[in-house]
Amino acid sequence: AIAPAAFANRPGLWSGRFPRHGSETHKFARGAVAVLAGGVAGVGAPRLSGRAALRSGAGLATLFCAPAALIAHAARGPDALMQRALADEAALGQVLADRRWAAVLAGPALGLDARARQLVAKLVAGEEALVLDADALTILAGEAALLSGLSRRGAPCVLTPHEGEFRRLFGREPAIEAERSKLERARKAAALSGATVVYKGADTVIASPDGRAAINATGSPALATAGAGDVLAGMVAGLVAQGMPAFEAACAAVWLHGRAGERLGFGLIADDLPEALPPLLHEIL
Ligand code: AMP
Ligand code: MG
Repeated sequence: AIAPAAFANRPGLWSGRFPRHGSETHKFARGAVAVLAGGVAGVGAPRLSGRAALRSGAGLATLFCAPAALIAHAARGPDALMQRALADEAALGQVLADRRWAAVLAGPALGLDARARQLVAKLVAGEEALVLDADALTILAGEAALLSGLSRRGAPCVLTPHEGEFRRLFGREPAIEAERSKLERARKAAALSGATVVYKGADTVIASPDGRAAINATGSPALATAGAGDVLAGMVAGLVAQGMPAFEAACAAVWLHGRAGERLGFGLIADDLPEALPPLLHEIL
């Protein structure tokens, strides 16, 4: 069989599905994002994600951290990102029942402890649209039942692995291990997991479980900096929260993130990326 051609990831691929909000919109209509965070050792990464979700147009973003980290988040001063303590799986059950979260992001500095593992298992079993990155991917990689649980979910899921995370997640799959093309590796990973896979790097590939795939056309080595991936994951969550389908949301986030990296160039730090979004959005909308 001849593999279907991949798309070049350009705005024409997804701009028709990009969220547009009229004058009658309100913050709840623009989607609420929950970001699950870890303890005091990692307060920066989930904040970058939450900020990126807001800058991508989500109406609300709330960061749920381990109770010990709440004071550290509060000390960062008031901003648009809300913060709450979240102790365990039972508390997460409550949070998910309280409000319809339009997307939940877990991974950046989530941790790998028992709390983190419980939370990821609860999310995989749940019905929210998910974005899983970083520590959540490491947790999935360590528990075969969780990874296979993804393909039985009704709601969309986006995985955003870099090379090391991809190898941890899919390196034991003979069909993927044998495949040398990054494009085909991403396609097979999406088919296997039932999730949209964003296989990051200098040549990011986005693959949908339905077989569509796109190779990104923007980017800069200036993006090889701490926290850049956390921003990307937040952007995907922000777009999914606004109702954009997972594949298109992932393509749009990767394209915009790459373009922001090109515009800012060397000297950029991850904190700059969400701030660079408004002028870019102005150009494409
Ligand atoms: P992470 O490794 O999770 O921090 O994610 C890094 C982000 O920066 C991903 O979106 C990568 O695609 C991007 N990135 C890293 N290195 C490069 C590079 N050399 N060229 C373009 N993009 C890069
Ligand atoms: Mg990362």
